[in-house]
Amino acid sequence: MHFFEYKDRQLYCEGILIREIAEKVGTPFYLYSYHTLVRHFTVFDDAFKGIPHLVCYSAKANSNLALLRLFINLGGGVDVVSGGELYRALKGGAVPQKIVFSGVGKREDEIEYALKTGILMFNVESSQELQVINEVASRIGKKAAIAIRVNPDIDPKTHPYISTGLKQNKFGIDILRAPMAYRLASQLPNLKIVGIDCHIGSQLVEVEPIIEALRRLKQLVENLRKDGMEIQYLDLGGGLGITYEDEEPPHPVEYASTILEELQGFGCTLILEPGRVIVGNAGVLVSKVLYTKENEEKRFVIVDAGMNDLVRPSYYGSYHQILPVKEETREEIVADVVGPICESSDFLAKGRKMAILHSGELIAVMSAGAYGFSMSTNYNSRPRIAEVLVRDDQMFVIRKREGYEDLIRGEKIPDFLIRS
Ligand SMILES: *Cc1c(COP(=O)(O)O)cnc(C)c1O
Repeated sequence: MHFFEYKDRQLYCEGILIREIAEKVGTPFYLYSYHTLVRHFTVFDDAFKGIPHLVCYSAKANSNLALLRLFINLGGGVDVVSGGELYRALKGGAVPQKIVFSGVGKREDEIEYALKTGILMFNVESSQELQVINEVASRIGKKAAIAIRVNPDIDPKTHPYISTGLKQNKFGIDILRAPMAYRLASQLPNLKIVGIDCHIGSQLVEVEPIIEALRRLKQLVENLRKDGMEIQYLDLGGGLGITYEDEEPPHPVEYASTILEELQGFGCTLILEPGRVIVGNAGVLVSKVLYTKENEEKRFVIVDAGMNDLVRPSYYGSYHQILPVKEETREEIVADVVGPICESSDFLAKGRKMAILHSGELIAVMSAGAYGFSMSTNYNSRPRIAEVLVRDDQMFVIRKREGYEDLIRGEKIPDFLIRS
């Protein structure tokens, strides 16, 4: 359930007409429902209350400061994958002791920044990274808390671009080599082993692969404990899927209860890094139909949002439901919904059976809260769009639409070109 619903044949976000928001901020824009965000976070967090745990919201799904702050206010930590995301988390008010730093290619400056911040732990993805973290920590006189991200070689049965826990993926340290990495870590003086981590993929619609990964991790933890290492935190990553079209992912409560069964009495604090499941269905992309046209073979609906605003359909072939903001009896057509970008891969829907759309009207591209704005770019020199948060009958612009001046910020024409 969410808070985007038709009333009197008009689409609302909570208590506000989407059409009225569009009149105020222009199109396109991202629109998030406060109560949906709160409910998703709370349901997820409560589902794990049977054991000590920490929900570290995965910032890359949607890193707007207002959303970060919202989850932080609810007691959440943050999972960051770059210095930029760490900066955002801190600006959002995150408690450093609730921040975990993941990612396969952390730079020294990012490591130093995180060490000075005093984060909970680094999820380390290679032996060389262990060495570098140790060196940086020693240089600035700190001890770095680390977990090793283990690659358990499990097929998460999701899109190949978002599967991360298979041998062929770049992520983590192979589970067979992990004990060696832990031994190395235990010998490096400025590291402190505190945990173990994995993240096998995104948009997972089955629990079995996660449970299988958890079992492999537990086995490894038991061996590490025999070697005298203390594993305080077990980080299971994120990845729980959502319904875009007709997927039936496990409910967070079901997902949690299977995990809790496995972890009862295991003596670790569980860390979770959900992203999509919290924000995905709490946001939509609102766009305006500019033109429609057809040829012998195809019909096109040309809208003012493009792949630079929402790349998922072009990048992963993802499905997003498209709804007219005004509900009425309509002829059914098959059409491509496309953006203004000069690329044939610029589409929001392809060969979609849908209600006919007319130029000038508004559409809502559903389930766009995760990996929507955060993956958007300025391609074709299109200013990035506004983000709006609705709470009951109030709206808040949480990121203003960029202007043309934002497009050239930092650019400089060298003098020699000006003089000639
Ligand atoms: C992307 C990512 C997540 C979040 O994944 P979702 O599928 O959005 O829940 C969590 N942890 C890590 C390490 C990630 O890279």
